[in-house]
Amino acid sequence: MARPHKSRKISNPPKMVGFKPYGMPMCKIDPVILKLEEYESIRLVNYDKLPQDQAAIRMNVSRPTFTRIYNNALEQIAKAFIEGKAIEIEGGNYEMDKEWYRCRKCFKLIEGLENHTKCKNCTLYGENELIKLN
Ligand SMILES: [Zn+2]
Repeated sequence: MARPHKSRKISNPPKMVGFKPYGMPMCKIDPVILKLEEYESIRLVNYDKLPQDQAAIRMNVSRPTFTRIYNNALEQIAKAFIEGKAIEIEGGNYEMDKEWYRCRKCFKLIEGLENHTKCKNCTLYGENELIKLN
């Protein structure tokens, strides 16, 4: 039996489920898929400005594995950008170090169990209005 890949650590999930290019009505047909660990690699390197070796440590993967994830993320984003395709951010092989919820109304990310019953932005309550992300 093949050994399952070790999960990659993600500390911040995305606010959105994907992206759509402007002025491309058919863009959701055949979207580009960006895995959550690919999203996280872009966040760490290009948003938080971490060197790749530190980003690899944050995600609990080797440097070569990180580079592979990161390069694949860039490739997927470039493909969407050039071909005018939507990006869906989903799936992958990851674990989050905290529980995350997203408000169904304002899309605010809410961290941890103690806060999960209420969105402070729009005071929505409960399981129906807050979506559990992991
Ligand atoms: Zn809200």
